[in-house]
Amino acid sequence: MSASEMHDKCGLFGAFGVPDSAQVTYFGLYALQHRGQESAGIVSSDSKSIHLHRGMGLVNRVFRDPQTIERLPGNSAIGHTRYSTTGASSLTNIQPFLITYRQKKLAIAHNGNLTNSRTLRTELEADGAIFQTTSDTEIILHLVARSKKERPLESICEALKQVKGAFSLVLLTKDSLIAVRDPQGFRPLALGRLKDGYVVASETCAFDLVGAEYVREIEPGEVLEIKKTGTESVKPFAKAKHAFCIFEYIYFSRPDSKIFGENVDKVSRRLGRQLALEHPVQADIVIGIPDSANTATLGYSEASGIRFEIGLIRNHYVGRTFIDPEQNIRDLDVRVKFNPVRGVLEGRRVVVVDDSIVRGTTSKKLIQMIRDCGATEVHFRSSSPPIISPCYYGIDMPTTEELIANDKSVEEIRAYLGADSLGYLSVKGMLGMNSLPEENYCVGCFTRDYPVPVEKRNGKLFLE
Ligand code: AMP
Repeated sequence: MSASEMHDKCGLFGAFGVPDSAQVTYFGLYALQHRGQESAGIVSSDSKSIHLHRGMGLVNRVFRDPQTIERLPGNSAIGHTRYSTTGASSLTNIQPFLITYRQKKLAIAHNGNLTNSRTLRTELEADGAIFQTTSDTEIILHLVARSKKERPLESICEALKQVKGAFSLVLLTKDSLIAVRDPQGFRPLALGRLKDGYVVASETCAFDLVGAEYVREIEPGEVLEIKKTGTESVKPFAKAKHAFCIFEYIYFSRPDSKIFGENVDKVSRRLGRQLALEHPVQADIVIGIPDSANTATLGYSEASGIRFEIGLIRNHYVGRTFIDPEQNIRDLDVRVKFNPVRGVLEGRRVVVVDDSIVRGTTSKKLIQMIRDCGATEVHFRSSSPPIISPCYYGIDMPTTEELIANDKSVEEIRAYLGADSLGYLSVKGMLGMNSLPEENYCVGCFTRDYPVPVEKRNGKLFLE
């Protein structure tokens, strides 16, 4: 990944016409914490002025002082949780961003990745633009500020027609909230109702927490403006083939969310069932790597008839752990997070299901830990196909070289992991588990077939 351009996976929330919007947004972000743990922020509007609070760390840390929420008055707000791979230098990159252009305030929060950001940034800089952050999201603000259109909705549409790639957005002006999804619909974004007002969120689990009712998805290519006087929906972009991120179902979204019109839990369970059909094995128990593989593991157990057990316990209080290289306790990084349950594993033939294998380092260490507990056989199963290429549309992944399946066969990976057998779900099997036809999904990380072209730098795809 280029250090000069941020690569974010994020959670978005917005509320309009809702009393104490910042408080509601705080809870919304709480439910979306899994989408980003590095920083969080909320911008609110009381129709006279706009207020902002942002910080590094988890949502409850950034807003731990109750007064921070009190300083965000008003009936509308947007919020963002962010994860990126660069560290402390990223303070200025914390979202939402808030700018003033032509005496108007505008705040923005973005989930996704623009694919033509390098070209646009170069053009804007050549034209005198001064960037304050290294985030691709700021490009959108520069384009909005340059638009000659009068209404924010029109300026935003004009700006967004120039950007490419993945962008689910929530924007806030003094008197309106605008929700946007790119024409391919890479990242999810849903609309809900809360009393007399509206809420939007990356995932519907945020609606459940604040007591909102799911209405519908923001449609791919839709720009929805919500004002006191009502809503206005426009579709300013050329029609494009949908490219819903399949990895949202596999790893990223919570099972209690509904995204792209389907319950994540249902899809994930079907992935596990299909995995059992494609890669059966004789074993005594099946365990999942918590939490992201839990639901798929249930599916594997149902379809195979192999008993589901809880064989690994995850410590939920692990944030970003500081591991001193001097501390030479073997596999400490993985041990801090997971501990095997000896009584469950000892003397048993064990199937271990994970949602994905990225670098292979976690799986290798866990397999060894499970063997050390006395398991007689360890059969590893991945409820997604081999990840052979990074994501350029907003899921944080390592470079091609670091992805174990990029240049290794399944047998080579099995040997590296130290498993007795290894089985990956097939791309066809994975796509067959969704209710929409397969051409509606982006599967670029599994096939290198990228639905929106990605810029190259030094002969390499940008972001690598
Ligand atoms: P690895 O050791 O790199 O193979 O890690 C695999 C684990 O990372 C799996 O248990 C996944 O649940 C998890 N995972 C998958 N994708 C991501 C991602 N984009 N960011 C962080 N963790 C991930």
